[in-house]
Amino acid sequence: MPTPCSICLTARALVKRPKTGQQVCKQCFFEVFEEEVHMTITTGAVGGGSIFERGERVAIGASGGKDSTVLAHVLTILNRRYDYGLDLHLLSIDEGIKGYRDDSLETVKQNQAEYGLPLKILSYDELYGWTMDRVVEQVGRKNNCTFCGVFRRQALDRGAADLAVDHIVTGHNADDIAETVLMNILRGDVARLQRCTAVTTCSEDTIKRSKPFKYAYEKEIVMYAYFKKLTYFSTECIYSPDAYRGHARVFLKDLEAVRPSAIVDIIRSGESFVLDQKTQRSMKAMQTCKRCGYIASNDLCKACALLQGLEAGLTSAQRTHQLDTQLPEGQRTIPKFERKLRVAESTGGVEGIERAVKAIAIE
Ligand SMILES: [Zn+2]
Ligand SMILES: [Zn+2]
Repeated sequence: MPTPCSICLTARALVKRPKTGQQVCKQCFFEVFEEEVHMTITTGAVGGGSIFERGERVAIGASGGKDSTVLAHVLTILNRRYDYGLDLHLLSIDEGIKGYRDDSLETVKQNQAEYGLPLKILSYDELYGWTMDRVVEQVGRKNNCTFCGVFRRQALDRGAADLAVDHIVTGHNADDIAETVLMNILRGDVARLQRCTAVTTCSEDTIKRSKPFKYAYEKEIVMYAYFKKLTYFSTECIYSPDAYRGHARVFLKDLEAVRPSAIVDIIRSGESFVLDQKTQRSMKAMQTCKRCGYIASNDLCKACALLQGLEAGLTSAQRTHQLDTQLPEGQRTIPKFERKLRVAESTGGVEGIERAVKAIAIE
């Protein structure tokens, strides 16, 4: 006899949820998956409440991969179902990797047509004057992920500033976040531990960023995409992946195989870390890059420092602290970072400061 769905009790159970082991029908799987994302969205703000404000312009960081494709799909559904009142956009970064990114961008263009969302593509080439293919040619395959990570983060912010959006959402899932928690522990980077588990991060000078899939398991995202027959691009980056993260990933998958709740448990552990006052005081204050105006912890932001290294033909990614703020003759720099603030949305300075204070307050 077929097993009935453990949620609706009528339809035949077709899938076993990787996250809970529940046996459910396809329709109930879609619903429970979407509802859990809705729950993350409506309770994920710092101090509780919704991460979105009505009327917000939101950019979905879209790579054409499974996570961001499912995110675009689910957000479109939820925005309609619960009337979030969001103005959704797709924002893609073209790293300039032949045979990888150019193909995945085709997938994003397909998504754009399917969901009717406006799409903006910003390339490393137009922003930094370097494609990842050229970066790898110069630095080799050892540090290339460092360059790509720094460049992508800033490119997303700049693309979002161009679109005048208030909020960037990315497809980071529960597995990604649990991996990051593990990596921060393994590296002793306590300052990042708590921050990396927040659904929403925001400081005064950066655009708000959120991860609505914080509690969504990678396996369930794949399952959702598969049953919904969503088009996504599944090839891994052709350049060597971050080796350290790779170890954390394998370890996490081993833990998940023994006990599926391990992923969520690790995230919960990360959430409960609170920095003591001494560590908080020792943290570096943020400033703006003397060259491009982007947020930085030194005179130059990481992207400007890396770019200068590339331009000067250096291969080390570790020279940031020795750099002069003066731009050497004939070298390329990144355009000034400017945010077009939308007049409609004035949250007021006081609230912003209160929020910032709350974010660092000690319980
Ligand atoms: Zn059901
Ligand atoms: Zn800079």
